[in-house]
Amino acid sequence: MQTLTVVVPAYNEGEGLRAFHARLAAVFDALDLTCEVLYVDDGSRDDTWAVISALREADARVGGLRLSRNFGKELALTAGLDHADADAVVVIDADLQDPPELIPQFVRVWREGFDVVYGTRASRAGESRLKRATAALFYRVMARLSPTPVPRDTGDFRLLSARALAALKQVRERQRFMKGLFAWVGYRQTAIVYHRDPRHAGASKFSYWRLWNFALEGVTSFSGVPLKIASYVGIATALLAFLYAVWVFGKAALFGDPVRGYPTLMVVILFLGGVQLMALGMIGEYLSRLYLEAKQRPLYLIDEHHAPRAGAHAAAAPR
Ligand code: UDP
Ligand code: MG
Repeated sequence: MQTLTVVVPAYNEGEGLRAFHARLAAVFDALDLTCEVLYVDDGSRDDTWAVISALREADARVGGLRLSRNFGKELALTAGLDHADADAVVVIDADLQDPPELIPQFVRVWREGFDVVYGTRASRAGESRLKRATAALFYRVMARLSPTPVPRDTGDFRLLSARALAALKQVRERQRFMKGLFAWVGYRQTAIVYHRDPRHAGASKFSYWRLWNFALEGVTSFSGVPLKIASYVGIATALLAFLYAVWVFGKAALFGDPVRGYPTLMVVILFLGGVQLMALGMIGEYLSRLYLEAKQRPLYLIDEHHAPRAGAHAAAAPR
């Protein structure tokens, strides 16, 4: 039988994880696949790991991976995917915002020959207007800036075929914008539209500050356009400054130069200073990322790993 691994990153999700697993297990029971789930505890500070361990005891299809600390969702996902080895892998959030009941539909489309089947949100219940507006803006800006098209209104909820997973495993960059990387892989991709539910339990782990940094990650990882903006703004200002200089010199030559012009001087200095700082900031963003890559640190560290007792792993390597 074909195998399916579901990877679930969880950070302080102890409260809702049992309910999540109950719904996932029901989906597994109805699938004609050898299924397993790998919960990745991203350094939770609540009882998430205890809940995962209890679920492992009760259900042989459950595996657990515990990172040494909180590495962030992107890296938790990466760790989970690195430890998955099945014909198809599904990535899903632990908060039941993405309905597990959609997985059979993903599987059906995958069997038609698609490599990446992603869920696109037709609606996002339970999220504030501000969050929806900023998310929409982000996807629009990304679409403009990045040569790799990142599908709109699409989270990490998706299915990957074995070869798409293998491709993704080869990407070892540290600054990981997973949505972009999933798209970068290519092959045959398609969307399934669904309605996003409100969070089942607990609160979102992404504050607006974290989301802003996430957006910055996305833009700098997948687009060099901001660097170009810096150069264009620089060229434009230099050109304007040159024209202005011609005008100032011309005026001085024709009419003499009584000591005036403090306001214009101030304006020019402040404007140029601002432009220079902006350009430097942009360059700095890329430079800091280059620095992080250059250090070649491991992406994440594992505290404990327990493969599921039954499921894709067991089917792939019988002991
Ligand atoms: N998550 C994680 N590490 C983190 C933050 C979040 O593994 O540092 C997980 C979290 O447990 C959840 C998923 O990523 O399963 C999505 O997080 P959340 O629901 O907080 O994000 P939102 O849906 O609000 O964008
Ligand atoms: Mg969520």
